[in-house]
Amino acid sequence: MATVAPAPVRAQYGLTSEQNAVAGLTREVAQREIAPHIAQWDREHTFPRELYAKLGEAGLMGLIVPERYGGAGADYVSYALAVEELARVDAGAAVTLSVHLMIAAAVLNLGSDAQKDRYLPRFASGEMLAAFALTESDAGSDAAALRSTAKRDGDQFVLRGRKQWCTNGGYAGATMAMFRTGGPGAKGVSAFIIENACQGVVVERTTEKLGIHTSNTVDIAFDDVRVPADALLGREGEGLGNALRVLTAGRIGIAAQAVGILAACLDASVKFAKEREAFGKPIGSFEGVAFKIAQMATDLDAARLLVYRAAALRDAGEEHALAASKAKLFASTAARKHAAEAVQIHGGYGYTTEFPVERHYRDAKITEIYEGTSEVQQIVIARSLLGKLG
Ligand SMILES: Cc1cc2nc3c(=O)[nH]c(=O)nc-3n(C[C@H](O)[C@H](O)[C@H](O)COP(=O)(O)OP(=O)(O)OC[C@H]3O[C@@H](n4cnc5c(N)ncnc54)[C@H](O)[C@@H]3O)c2cc1C
Repeated sequence: MATVAPAPVRAQYGLTSEQNAVAGLTREVAQREIAPHIAQWDREHTFPRELYAKLGEAGLMGLIVPERYGGAGADYVSYALAVEELARVDAGAAVTLSVHLMIAAAVLNLGSDAQKDRYLPRFASGEMLAAFALTESDAGSDAAALRSTAKRDGDQFVLRGRKQWCTNGGYAGATMAMFRTGGPGAKGVSAFIIENACQGVVVERTTEKLGIHTSNTVDIAFDDVRVPADALLGREGEGLGNALRVLTAGRIGIAAQAVGILAACLDASVKFAKEREAFGKPIGSFEGVAFKIAQMATDLDAARLLVYRAAALRDAGEEHALAASKAKLFASTAARKHAAEAVQIHGGYGYTTEFPVERHYRDAKITEIYEGTSEVQQIVIARSLLGKLG
């Protein structure tokens, strides 16, 4: 069972009582519904589908969806807090929720009234999970290289291609997917929202991964899938820009996931350093251990501040892409680094499945890769200072 200490008082972060309530509720649900099972789910690579109905009942699956569509109408800081608290217990559940809410936000911001009516209530209840399909085998960081096509045929589009590593894809009821409707480059790409039950949508391969074993990652083939023209999400030819804006919000979610993993590493390390003795003393009395914990706590604080700032900027309707990139870069680097330190603090026990830190160590790495690698975040940050020189 995961060891999670009571959440720190977040007064110093200037959160509202509503935001603190979301964090508290998520912590309670995660402790009740996930913590008793996580070791087994991780070992058996279980995607706990029924969990998301429970998160729906708790209001988390529609956290940022307006109340008129059955959501909780909360803000992005709350989104970040919910993802963080889930990640503290299970980073897989955290990314499931983060991607799902990212697509809910995309439908809210880009969708027609009909699309909002069709999808948002089902997303909010947890009845329907959402997925995002941009990456292809030869188009990852360079998303504009994507080759899947959508050809117009009367009042329909015919979708053809293969998308790789879609989080939630095997269980999703709807997927936001990007296809080429025009010529080469970014301007030829359009976004669609597609029901996964459509004929020709085929889940082809479940990916085996280093970590986040409770999240579902699949390849999806689109074999001449016919969708009505009103499955376009946003305007034709604006799909790549829209997808990248969607990912900007998603990056706040992944940064929050990294913060949750880091918090779990700190919880476990503090507990172990007080309990484990060597040379007749608790190992926390040795500077070599205590200083690792001090640095972990400091980086956790810094990561939180960056994540909450990025989310607050988004809530205020201000430019937040740069803040989101900085938050993701810092939080993911810190999570990967300190997860390794947490294993080190646990010594041999840290390398075994008896303690949760080996899972945190495996889970942390992905936060540096998906929704824009650390190098991509560095490109965004450097360009904001230097412009595009090359
Ligand atoms: C578990 C998992 C879940 C995922 N979920 C989704 C999902 O739900 N939807 C989706 O669409 N995708 C998803 N992805 C894909 C993910 O977003 C990509 O893997 C990621 O964007 C990197 O692309 P790539 O793997 O093709 O690496 P590449 O782009 O081939 O990069 C390889 C390396 O080169 C570096 N690099 C590339 N270009 C540059 C450059 N210009 N300057 C410096 N360095 C560079 C990268 O940073 C990286 O280190 C998922 C991936 C995984 C592993």
